Amino acid sequence: MSSQKKKPVLPDNAQKDTGAPKNNGAGENVSPAGKKSLSVREEHLQDIKCDLLKQKEIILSEAEVAINVLPEQTAFSDLGDQASAETDRSFMLQLRGREQKLLKKIEEAIDRIDCGTFGICDVCGEPIGIKRLKARPVTTMCIACKTEQEEDEKEAGL
Ligand SMILES: [Zn+2]
Repeated sequence: MSSQKKKPVLPDNAQKDTGAPKNNGAGENVSPAGKKSLSVREEHLQDIKCDLLKQKEIILSEAEVAINVLPEQTAFSDLGDQASAETDRSFMLQLRGREQKLLKKIEEAIDRIDCGTFGICDVCGEPIGIKRLKARPVTTMCIACKTEQEEDEKEAGL
């Protein structure tokens, strides 16, 4: 009988007064200390920039490896013998032309992010969808213009 005293059951309206602000669902308000609060799109752009920087690093380190692989300096033990290391080297040198183009595109994209012109379609000036930017960060055309261009190219190729 006296046990009822121990656990008072609060009525509904008393629970609502516990202080937690109702911020759920209205977007994440978690901003790390020291960071300016960014719009959602800007946050996505920063994500993309991080990805681009990582990609750039990978390409650069691979290029470095390709340059540094000398016949006498076989750093890759898991590549087996020297012959395969040299095959790999020429393969990497071939790759470099393409990698360099990609690297340039990545650097341009990073520049555009810094200048605030990233994600704007070169052709129509409309913002490019975040999904598309995440899938192809180096793109400079929105999906509509890109599709149109591809169709034009097809027609021109006839
Ligand atoms: Zn466009």
